[in-house]
Amino acid sequence: MTAPVCRYDYDLDALRGHVARIVATLPERCRMFYAMKANSAAPILRALAPLVAGFEAASGGEVAEARVVGAGVPVLFGGPVKTDREIADALRARVTRFHVESLLELHRIEAVAAAEGVTAEVLLRVNLAGPFPAATLAMAGRPTQFGIDESVLPDAVGIAQTLPHLRLAGFHLHSLSNNLSADAHLDLLRLYRDTVTAWEAEFGLRCEVLNVGGGIGVNYADLDAQFDWSRFAEGLVELVATFPGHWHEIDFECGRYLVAACGRYAVEVLDVKRNHGVDYVLVRGGTHHFRLPVSWQHSHPFTVVPVDAWPSGLPRPTTDGPVTVVGELCTPKDVLARDVDAGEIRAGDVLVFEYAGAYGWEISHHDFLSHPHPEQVFLGGQATSSASRMV
Ligand SMILES: *Cc1c(COP(=O)(O)O)cnc(C)c1O
Repeated sequence: MTAPVCRYDYDLDALRGHVARIVATLPERCRMFYAMKANSAAPILRALAPLVAGFEAASGGEVAEARVVGAGVPVLFGGPVKTDREIADALRARVTRFHVESLLELHRIEAVAAAEGVTAEVLLRVNLAGPFPAATLAMAGRPTQFGIDESVLPDAVGIAQTLPHLRLAGFHLHSLSNNLSADAHLDLLRLYRDTVTAWEAEFGLRCEVLNVGGGIGVNYADLDAQFDWSRFAEGLVELVATFPGHWHEIDFECGRYLVAACGRYAVEVLDVKRNHGVDYVLVRGGTHHFRLPVSWQHSHPFTVVPVDAWPSGLPRPTTDGPVTVVGELCTPKDVLARDVDAGEIRAGDVLVFEYAGAYGWEISHHDFLSHPHPEQVFLGGQATSSASRMV
C-alpha cells in the first residue's frame, strides 16, 4: 500500500530563470539580496547564491545557514532583536553589515564589536511615519515593533556617529508587505528618496547605502495578474537616475516575490463529505505544513489532478460543487481554501496548491498532531534531490 501523496515540489530551474530575469533588469547601483526567511532550504539557497548579491538573514540561525552555502556570500544581518551572542557570531562570520532596530541595539553592537576589536557597519532601520501608498499590509506607519521610530532618529544618528566601533553607512526602510502594484512601489521608493535626502540635510551626513527592503507581492487571488516587474524595472531606471550620486548602493531584499512561484504543495484527498450543508474535502496534509492561507486569511489557489486508480469495493465519495478544503488536524482552523468551486473532486484525487514556495513550510507548526512531514523534492539542477528537510 503506497502512502498518500503529500509533497512539496520546488522547481529550481524555474527559480533560477525567474531570479536571473529580475536581476538582469536592475539598474546600476541596485542590488538584489534574498530575504532568507521566505524559504531557507539549502537547495534554494544554493540555487540563488550565484544569482543574487547575497542574503538577508533575520536571525543567528539564518546567518549560519548562509555560511553553510558559502563562506564568501555577502550577508546582511537584520531581524527585530539580536542577542550579544548572535552579534558576536555575525561579526566572526564577517557579515557585510547590520540593520539596527533600536538605540539599545546600537550600544549592544558597539560593545560586542569593541570586545572583538572590529568595526561594525550599520544601517539604521527606520519605522517611518508615513503615509504610504496602498498595499495589503503595512509594516510601518502604524504601530509595529520594527525599526527605530522616526521621531527618535536624531538620537539614533547621533549615537551611531559617536560610538567608535560603528560605521553608519545609511538607512534601511522596509515598510510594506505583499505590494502588488508596480506604480505604488515606485511611489514608495520616491518617498524613500525624498525622506533620506531630507535626513542628509538635517543631520549633515552622507548616506552611502539605502536598503529599500522587500515587500513585492504575489497575487494569490488572481494568479494571472502578478506584480508587473517589467513596468517596475523601467520606472526604476528613471527613478534611480534621480538618486544622489553618492548613494552608491541601493539594496533590495526580497523574499516572497523571488521564491513563491517555484514551490507547489501537492496533497491527496483522503475523504469527501457533507456536514451542515457544506462539502468538505479532507486532505493528507494541512496547515501544519502550509500555514500561509490561514495566516493570510485567504483561499489558496489549487488545481485538481484526477487520479483514476481507486480500490475496488470501496465507495468513492465525490463532489462537484463549492468545497472547503481542510487538513488532517483536529481544529476547525485547519482550512486551506474555503467555499471554492473547483469542479469534480473525488477521494483519491490530488490537489496541487500553487505559489507555495514562500512562507509555506517555513512558517508552519510541523509537529502538531505528530503527522508525518511532507516529502520535499527539489527538481532541476544537477540531480533531483529528495530530502526530508530538517525541522
Ligand atoms: C520579511 C522581510 C523581508 C522580505 O519580505 P518579502 O515580503 O518576503 O519580500 C525583507 N526585509 C525585512 C526586514 C523583512 O522583515
